[in-house]
Amino acid sequence: MRSTQRVEGMHRTIKIGIDPMMKLYRLVQLHEQVIMEQRRADGHSDHTTVHTFPVIDGVLSSIKAHAAKVYTRNCYYLLCKEMSFESFYVVKCEKQNKSAPDEPIWYWLQAVERENIWYIVIRHDAHEMMYCCCMKLESVGFPCRHMFAVMKYANMKEIPSGCILRRWTIWAKKQIVLNEDNIAHEEDSGLSVEKRKIRDPQIVITKGAQKAKGSKLTANVVV
Ligand SMILES: [Zn+2]
Repeated sequence: MRSTQRVEGMHRTIKIGIDPMMKLYRLVQLHEQVIMEQRRADGHSDHTTVHTFPVIDGVLSSIKAHAAKVYTRNCYYLLCKEMSFESFYVVKCEKQNKSAPDEPIWYWLQAVERENIWYIVIRHDAHEMMYCCCMKLESVGFPCRHMFAVMKYANMKEIPSGCILRRWTIWAKKQIVLNEDNIAHEEDSGLSVEKRKIRDPQIVITKGAQKAKGSKLTANVVV
């Protein structure tokens, strides 16, 4: 939760209990109660994250186990919900330059229920990063269901570190600096121009759109 969301939540709670005739000392008491409740909820959430481990079940078990170690528990459950939608998408096509293993791999996914809807996911192992044309990662900071569909298809065991934003992890409060090329977006300033180009969502989407329009099917058709 962002700090602005947290403050708005406090405002909403306080507004419910405010009366125009309320004494000032009562308003201060109410404010302190809200703060205490917020701290209690935070403490409970921290305790759950640090001292418990969720039961891993269903598909993508390796990915879930990795997510449970990295993300806070609330974020873990949000990711699990997103993973539950991955089966609605099927990888129909992939393109990889096998002579250059450091090059990104392109995947074209088709929606099962709406066959005219396609998504493009790019997997860049050298940078431990993935991109999707839905841009959920760029907008909310979580890998999207299309990425999880690719992870399942490619039998990946972990979420690429570049797709993990530190603000959602168990290290968010600890100011721990991980591998400098990990935990993307928030520390992009030190990257080379070439890496920034590769990480630029606009470039990714533009290239993706061109490839999709061309549809020359130079890629390997896998289904
Ligand atoms: Zn997506």
